Amino acid sequence: MTYTDFIKQDYLDSLLKENRMPSKSEVKDVLKKASEKKGITPEEAFVLMQTKDKDMIEEIYTLAGKIKNEIYGNRLVIFAPLYVTNVCGNICAYCGFRADNKDLHRRTLTNEEIKEEIKILENEGHKRVLMVYGEHPQFGAKWIKETVEAAYSVKSGNGEMRRINVNIAPMGVDDFKILKSSDIGTYQCFQETYHKKTYEKVHIAGKKKDYLYRLYSLDRAQEAGIDDVAMGVLFGLYDYRFEVMALLQHAEHLEKVFGVGPHTISFPRIEPALGSDMSEHPPVDVTDKDFRRIVSVLRIAVPYTGLILTTREQADLRREFFKLGVSQISAGSRTYPGAYHDAKCNKPDMQQFTIGDTRTLDEVLLDVIEQGYIPSFCTSCYRKGRTGQAFMQEAKPGHIHTFCHPNAILTFLEYLEDYGSEKTKNAGYEFIEREIKKLDNNAIRKSFMEKYENTKAGMRDLYF
Ligand code: SAM
Ligand code: SF4
Repeated sequence: MTYTDFIKQDYLDSLLKENRMPSKSEVKDVLKKASEKKGITPEEAFVLMQTKDKDMIEEIYTLAGKIKNEIYGNRLVIFAPLYVTNVCGNICAYCGFRADNKDLHRRTLTNEEIKEEIKILENEGHKRVLMVYGEHPQFGAKWIKETVEAAYSVKSGNGEMRRINVNIAPMGVDDFKILKSSDIGTYQCFQETYHKKTYEKVHIAGKKKDYLYRLYSLDRAQEAGIDDVAMGVLFGLYDYRFEVMALLQHAEHLEKVFGVGPHTISFPRIEPALGSDMSEHPPVDVTDKDFRRIVSVLRIAVPYTGLILTTREQADLRREFFKLGVSQISAGSRTYPGAYHDAKCNKPDMQQFTIGDTRTLDEVLLDVIEQGYIPSFCTSCYRKGRTGQAFMQEAKPGHIHTFCHPNAILTFLEYLEDYGSEKTKNAGYEFIEREIKKLDNNAIRKSFMEKYENTKAGMRDLYF
């Protein structure tokens, strides 16, 4: 198949070059349209990224928070990454796993070692994991499927992994079909930068050099039946305004071809990584101020797409981003193969990048509720078949909220019962009492109270 670039490279660059400042009324018009929660175009997102008017910037943040609240309520979905291998055949200038990094200690976990890592995560209380892999010819789809199945097979006490998402290099349709048969949740593949010339410069060698093959990886995943796909940009490689507009063009492309946009979007910023000069001095500085604008504009532009924030960022900034529209966070993360098993977790010669938020899962959860958010380990949509288009059909009229809030409470209750520290339990049960009062649908409330009592009595995995 021949691929054509659906990112309008020259056009987006011309907008940057022109660098036109919008008037206050133009910004207001975009915000008015955005408040209908139907999304905005890449050009309208550009208007929101261009304004320097302080009042308008505040209004952008406020609207992003309002949209987040109306669609997701005060829920924050929690997950942890699991690094399966840091062996990689590519040379990406920004990554510590790059093939020419002689100082990196390489390791690929066996299925038994994966099970050990999963057991530790389950014993901490995790129910959702993101498995991450380097790209190498030795890692075929069949092998990846076996690693996912190994992870799903672990049941430790009341623990189990209920949804496994994967971050893996692009594959062909037949290989994606094999991957899908392992029952993965979301398939993630970040374009890193949508700016083709920059892409070709920073991907020095290996299969990943092929910009178009990567650009169409989510199309091939969809063709193979994986209907929850996730995109992302590694911020710091090119102008963030170009990247945000291009992300939205990518989302529009998926919507047009498959009738459904991305399930989630990630927006990592480049962090220092061993053996990568570029990671110490990223080509473009993306400040915290820029980052606030990126997150709030994305929230406004794609209201029904989950926004994921990882532990690359520091705790203070993470707190701020909950308000601006982030809906999923990783917690208690470690970023090298075998790291959860490592009591000291001090292997800089193995890890992908430096972590900004090093708190444990329990510490993060306590902080999350202190900020007024309910941590959710819920995986019910995917197990009830609410994925892809079906998910969007439920989400857009607001139906999802009816299930998500009680499911969040039930999964957090499971956490408190099985894994919570005394401090988190004390604060958590009180928080749950307040959340229950918010359940205003009588039928749901009745059924919820039954599930709640049964969970307290020891039953597990009760959901809507
Ligand atoms: N190898 C696969 C690939 O490249 O698609 C997946 C795994 S890769 C480790 C996952 C993501 O890590 C990449 O897509 C990239 O965005 C991110 N990453 C790489 N180097 C990074 C760095 N120095 N700081 C922050 N994120 C980085
Ligand atoms: Fe390998 Fe992915 Fe790192 Fe590139 S970003 S070097 S493909 S692990």
